[in-house]
Amino acid sequence: MSDKYQSFTQSTIGKFLVKNLGLPSPTKLERYAAGDPLVKGTVLVGGRGRLAESLAGLLGELGIESTDTRTDGATYKGLVFDASGLTSIDQLVALQEFFTPVLRSLESCPRVVVIGTPPTLVEGRERVAQRALEGFTRSLGKEIGRGGTVQLVYVAEGYEQSLLSTLGFLLSPKSAYVSGQVVRIGTHREQQAETVTDWTAPLAGKVALVTGASRGIGEQIARVLHRDGATVVGLDVPQAADELQKVMKEVDGDWLTLDITAKDAPQRIAQHLKEKHGGVDVVVHNAGVTLDKKLANQTPERFGKVFEINIDAPELITAELLAQQVINPNGRIIDVSSMAGIAGNVGQTSYAASKAGVIGHVDALADELVDGITINAVAPGFIITQMTAAMPFGPREVGQRMNAMAQGGLPVDVAEAIAWYANPASTAVNGNVVRVCGQMMLGA
Ligand code: NAD
Repeated sequence: MSDKYQSFTQSTIGKFLVKNLGLPSPTKLERYAAGDPLVKGTVLVGGRGRLAESLAGLLGELGIESTDTRTDGATYKGLVFDASGLTSIDQLVALQEFFTPVLRSLESCPRVVVIGTPPTLVEGRERVAQRALEGFTRSLGKEIGRGGTVQLVYVAEGYEQSLLSTLGFLLSPKSAYVSGQVVRIGTHREQQAETVTDWTAPLAGKVALVTGASRGIGEQIARVLHRDGATVVGLDVPQAADELQKVMKEVDGDWLTLDITAKDAPQRIAQHLKEKHGGVDVVVHNAGVTLDKKLANQTPERFGKVFEINIDAPELITAELLAQQVINPNGRIIDVSSMAGIAGNVGQTSYAASKAGVIGHVDALADELVDGITINAVAPGFIITQMTAAMPFGPREVGQRMNAMAQGGLPVDVAEAIAWYANPASTAVNGNVVRVCGQMMLGA
């Protein structure tokens, strides 16, 4: 499955037509390959806030080269601006003073991260200024171009050291298709993260359950979590047993075939994980379906089936695993929502409701979980899979181009975001819903 339009724009005639007709010209996005450094280049650091003293040290721990001095003629792969010290709107000009001179000195697929203080944790003029950062970063994401990404990370006071896994993700090609996002760290409750010493295998010794792992996004999640050192237990329906076993053998994993909507599924999953693995560290609820129809033509069976698979099953399985204490301390629950659950979509009232329900699942549990267990979700936009390849040409082209990257994402892009949540150092990353959508023009 490939993006034929993007390949065409790289040809001689394609380049000519793009230039003369003003057509979208999607940049070939850089993606992470095992063994690569997190950042192939230098990160320029600016701003004056709570992180001014510690940023260089944090980046150094990740093996990322940084400088706080801009040099004429130098180019940069990333920019990090500490805006946590901005306490009133008039101080926001510091953003312009830092960014404007350096935006033409960025290498391709650059990464920009602005760090702020969660507005809900401060008051008055400071709250206004911190909230304003969202508009700044979302707009810069839409204009940066050349495969660049821009994110805002709100970090609560006292959680500065908890930024490590998030900086590693957002500054590296692992976040190729994530842009215009707002991440909140340390906003739910006090949690101590585990220390990661080997950033190439942060999940070593961990067990990860991935539902819907035989193909598409689930298959890539299994592969990326395996790359990061986890033992993967893949789950899929009995009809997909052959494909599932093939993938799981390739990742030295274990497998379980069942329908997650079966009455005994939560109990069987809990028993399998306890007996064969002594528990589980990462639970990824990826299995999902669409049964699209406009509401005027809908049947109760089709409408209800989507809820059963997409939200009832993850909720019931999570509840059983928690009740039986199968999820180990510092465990991770990761849900897969969708842009449809945020923006809505024609023909998808049931799918969008189920995927908005997934966000409700995150909201409901984020404050309740204990022992360092977290819950977060990804909300993919247009991801190139068998599902989207089957769409008619017109809607597929529109879906693919209506984002800041002018292209669809790959299953691996969703998997990398999940691996960031799964990281044992991401304990303070809780209750987040991050879109993997190339900054789609739709939705908040
Ligand atoms: P897919 O159809 O290729 O894969 C889904 C997997 O889930 C399949 O292997 C399927 O057998 C399994 N599954 C379905 N029902 C099941 C059940 N009852 N029990 C066990 N397994 C079951 O889909 P995909 O595109 O890889 O999507 C994966 C997830 O990402 C889904 O939750 C989907 O809603 C979400 N998503 C996808 C996109 C996209 O553009 N592809 C966009 C947004 C969200």
